[in-house]
Amino acid sequence: MESDDMRDFAAEARRFLDAHVAKAPDRTALTWGEGDDSMAYFSSLPLEEEREFVQRAREWQRIRHENGFGWITGPVEYGGRGLTPVHDLLYDAIESEYDVADTGVLSVIGLGMIGPTILAHAQPRIKDRWLPAMYRGDAIACQLFSEPGAGSDLASVATRAVREGEDWVLNGQKVWTSVAQHSQIGLALTRTNPEAPKHRGITAFLVPMDAPGVEVRPLRQMTGGADFNEVFLTDVRIPDDHRLGEVDGGWTVALTTLMNERATVGSEGVGPVAAALSPDHLSALMRATWTWDDRALRARLAELLVDVLATEHLNARALRRLRAGVAPGPEMSVSKLMYGQNLTRAAHFVSDVLGPRIIADTGQWGTYAWTELLLATPALRILGGTEEIMKNILAERVLGLPKEPVTAAAKEVRP
Ligand SMILES: Cc1cc2nc3c(=O)[nH]c(=O)nc-3n(C[C@H](O)[C@H](O)[C@H](O)COP(=O)(O)OP(=O)(O)OC[C@H]3O[C@@H](n4cnc5c(N)ncnc54)[C@H](O)[C@@H]3O)c2cc1C
Repeated sequence: MESDDMRDFAAEARRFLDAHVAKAPDRTALTWGEGDDSMAYFSSLPLEEEREFVQRAREWQRIRHENGFGWITGPVEYGGRGLTPVHDLLYDAIESEYDVADTGVLSVIGLGMIGPTILAHAQPRIKDRWLPAMYRGDAIACQLFSEPGAGSDLASVATRAVREGEDWVLNGQKVWTSVAQHSQIGLALTRTNPEAPKHRGITAFLVPMDAPGVEVRPLRQMTGGADFNEVFLTDVRIPDDHRLGEVDGGWTVALTTLMNERATVGSEGVGPVAAALSPDHLSALMRATWTWDDRALRARLAELLVDVLATEHLNARALRRLRAGVAPGPEMSVSKLMYGQNLTRAAHFVSDVLGPRIIADTGQWGTYAWTELLLATPALRILGGTEEIMKNILAERVLGLPKEPVTAAAKEVRP
């Protein structure tokens, strides 16, 4: 049962949302052929429209912030509300019923991962300067972790940071940096001690993205858009007060960022993702394309929907545990793995239903639009830890299977 506190909070959230935005149309209760049929997971907007999209995100975050919903779990001294993650989840669930601007460009990486890392590890001046600005929607942050030679094996980062007086000088290349093109700051992992075991020679810095020597180059995806970037750092001078954590202690900082990756609980509830996994939507698509009588396709649909349902139950269980004050357990790792797999299976199922209509636009509502989701699915199995890495984690930490063989150098830091 909800406590009085939660009921009051929910009522306050609804009052705020009712005063500012309209209710969202329910995309799962569709009337075939009506409304928006976009299935885009990644943006593929022209630059000008993309800028307007980012502006709308900033504006909605500012309104949230002014009304006490911009940083629900954040400390009051930095403009937060000082409430619990359960309040945060409750607000997200309520907000998903409303037609609000998509704030993913700010929230997924910046507010969800970099903000909590700054709070935990940055020096006071940096916290004062950036935390209120980020949660007010004024500053977007990106994650400068991956490099051409460091992805799953993130501790192999090779971007160098060398101390020069009160400053550090950074040189190297980052890659797959989401939202770097819109960001004011980036959290970079650098190598400060090449002699130490790899996890012990890394230092983290907050890099102003307009600093001389920072160059952002967009990478075009097969979906048509360019959400990711290469970021080149050439003699970038960073004051020592922009360092997070200890010198050579950057791995601890990185772990804070990675652990703050937003829980996926409830994130399947909105937009194209909800439509892609909706029994109503998928069966309506089969009827509209005269494939409903194909028993083999129907059997595949049933198998997929059973897994979607199982994932929803796992998410609901995680949410119940969280509400009861229990930290999320192994079900979150399974849930994350299933998220990518379910969407991939849905997109492949639909491309079999559609046949040539997935590659040639016949103009029929709700058909060719699926191409955008189909082309996005490989990325879903890579982002936030690849499917193979997730399976390794599950095998070792949940099923208790023997660990992967590790090298002598890795053993020094990984017992
Ligand atoms: C949509 C998207 C957004 C991203 N955004 C960001 C971002 O904002 N900032 C950022 O820093 N990075 C970002 N990344 C990068 C992402 O973190 C890396 O792509 C990911 O960690 C994998 O690293 P890699 O691409 O170097 O692949 P590799 O690590 O080189 O892996 C290649 C293949 O080998 C497999 N493999 C590797 N190691 C093992 C192992 N031990 N056991 C079994 N198989 C293994 C992998 O599963 C994969 O199939 C993003 C990626 C995507 C797809």
